[in-house]
Amino acid sequence: MTPLFKVRSLSVTAAFRKLRQGRQMLLGAGLGAIALLILLIAPAQATDLQIAPTNPRLGDTIAVVLRPTVPGEVAPTVTMDGTAYPVFPLSGNRYRALLPTTPLDRPGRKVIQVSGMGEPRNVAITLRDRSFPVQRIRVRGGGSGGTEYEFSRVDALKQIVSPEKYWRGAFARPASGRVSSEYGVRRYYNGVFAENYYHRGVDYAGGQGSPVVAPAAGRVVLVGRVEDGFVLHGNSVGIDHGQGVSSIFIHLSRIDVREGDFVQPGQRIGAIGATGSATGPNLHWGLFVNGKSVDPVPWRNQGFE
Ligand SMILES: [Zn+2]
Repeated sequence: MTPLFKVRSLSVTAAFRKLRQGRQMLLGAGLGAIALLILLIAPAQATDLQIAPTNPRLGDTIAVVLRPTVPGEVAPTVTMDGTAYPVFPLSGNRYRALLPTTPLDRPGRKVIQVSGMGEPRNVAITLRDRSFPVQRIRVRGGGSGGTEYEFSRVDALKQIVSPEKYWRGAFARPASGRVSSEYGVRRYYNGVFAENYYHRGVDYAGGQGSPVVAPAAGRVVLVGRVEDGFVLHGNSVGIDHGQGVSSIFIHLSRIDVREGDFVQPGQRIGAIGATGSATGPNLHWGLFVNGKSVDPVPWRNQGFE
């Protein structure tokens, strides 16, 4: 306490004299004063809470990182828009939930609720709108609908929440070709806006047979082939990266892994093709976080620890 009041009562000239005497001492005392003021202003919280990105936009994955400051027995829960998200321990006595957002979400104010560690807390964030490219498609007839089998397999992949985290750092690029269609593209079919459609992944152009590699470590939990009913997706591989994060790779010409295999980042899993509903050889990579298709780009760039 004494240094604090000493600093606060110093005149400017006295402060400079003090500075000459001991720059480090003054700096230390000043920081102490600031820290104490913050403690006095902020109400006592049982949890440190960090939300990243601080300024999210549609398609982003929102990481909510919690650090309990009082020991508690109860695992924390994180809820947004009425959905509770799984929370997993991170290093350093921290916990994290990953909240997916998509182009179908309503932008604006969202309230993230955290409970189970001390007093429940509500934190408001603003989910920014984002303009996605638009395609106008002319279709005749019903098109290729896909089978019950492939949809149920893909749904099961999206719902997997393994407690372990297999990925480390930023995801790698799964194919070497240019991006031919980005995430989130919206469509009009015969002039009518498709409310529920958005491009649920990133497409990479590439020659037939060029390699497709795992962007991150994980367990192969889905191998689907055209002859088994994957008529829309084509030959497909699904990887569980752990903690509610999974990838799907579709339209493959070849599959080089089996269900149950554990793959490392950069490991070849198949080859680019045009199987299923594809206009030409390309790789579609879809990234799911807790059941929703999110923009893989933030996972490629800065990544999630
Ligand atoms: Zn695609």
